[in-house]
Amino acid sequence: MATVYFDEATRRFAASDRPAVDHVTLDIADGEFLVLVGPSGCGKSTTLRMLAGLEPIDGGRILIDGHDQKGVRPRDRDVAMVFQSYALYPNMTAAQNMAFALDNAKVGKAETRARVAEAAKILQLEDLLDRKPGSMSGGQRQRVAMGRAIVRQPKVFCMDEPLSNLDAKLRVSTRSQIAGLQRRLGITTVYVTHDQVEAMTMGHRVAVLRDGALQQVDTPERLYDEPINTFVASFIGSPAITLVEATVREGVAAVHNLQVPLDRGVAGRARETVVMGFRPEAWHLADSSAADSLALTVELVESLGSESFVYGRPVDAEPNAERVTVRLEKRTHLTVGDLVHVRPNHADAHVFDAQTGESLRARAGRSSSAPQQEGP
Ligand code: ATP
Repeated sequence: MATVYFDEATRRFAASDRPAVDHVTLDIADGEFLVLVGPSGCGKSTTLRMLAGLEPIDGGRILIDGHDQKGVRPRDRDVAMVFQSYALYPNMTAAQNMAFALDNAKVGKAETRARVAEAAKILQLEDLLDRKPGSMSGGQRQRVAMGRAIVRQPKVFCMDEPLSNLDAKLRVSTRSQIAGLQRRLGITTVYVTHDQVEAMTMGHRVAVLRDGALQQVDTPERLYDEPINTFVASFIGSPAITLVEATVREGVAAVHNLQVPLDRGVAGRARETVVMGFRPEAWHLADSSAADSLALTVELVESLGSESFVYGRPVDAEPNAERVTVRLEKRTHLTVGDLVHVRPNHADAHVFDAQTGESLRARAGRSSSAPQQEGP
């Protein structure tokens, strides 16, 4: 087990004038499960590959257990990678695939056998040890790839979208297996995904990257409740937050025809124009006669059984005004074209600076450093 510290780590590719990984500073605790998330091309894989030693570092440092990894070869870093593509050897059995790295490292036969047996037990692969990858399902292959990393008993696991080849149902069950396994083994893990649901459900903390730059590192709850800017607010949460420009006068924001009072601290920091953010659950249905309600024309209804999402366009707004997403706890009889009146809980409104996109609610000096103890 080990701590990992990215200290202003930077990677530049010749083809681009902007760094792919831009001065990333990230402190990962011993035993922590840290998820790197962000849109395609934001630098997640490159960050992970730098840690594994598969990509050089053009600036800054990466420390494992306090030791600078500069010049340390990938095989000497004690980091095990799990890739999206599994990268299993097709002509070897599951057991041989798992044992391969140990054979190369000249680990004794008895020790290798014991470690493979233990990993197979943890991953419920015992019945599959003699099968070759070609006759296994995607989920089984993925578990063999995990097993191959586990048997090495590394200091750090690096996982790059290991679930993206699995179907939706298997992804859900496998993600809880991986999270449970990581908890039991207590091995520091850096996990890359572009899927914010995966990030939110698996990570002790989640690091959001944009264009190579770290935006926010926080617990899933804090990322959701206190996004530091409009990018994080939009990226985290599904369906996405509704962002609307609003004019502020005397501490009250005008959102379409709604008057949303801002708390004093936020109002003090607000310029004339702000961006207000409302998560789907911040809205509730209102009486059509209620003065302070927003009328929406329903454009889409998603009924998920236990809840529904209604997407509506404000009636009196410009045609290109942002659609408002409303979560209803029950099934709804609303259909496309209906008129619905909603009202936001004022306390749940997020407020961002219209120019910088930064949250006006973010507390000064908030820490995003690694937890003192092992994650939850
Ligand atoms: P994805 O989710 O699509 O895998 P990512 O967030 O993992 O994306 P990276 O693969 O780290 O992103 O790429 C970050 C940036 O660096 C991208 O703009 C990419 O085009 C660029 N890049 C990555 N590898 C190379 C390379 N070998 N040569 C040149 N540019 C590269």
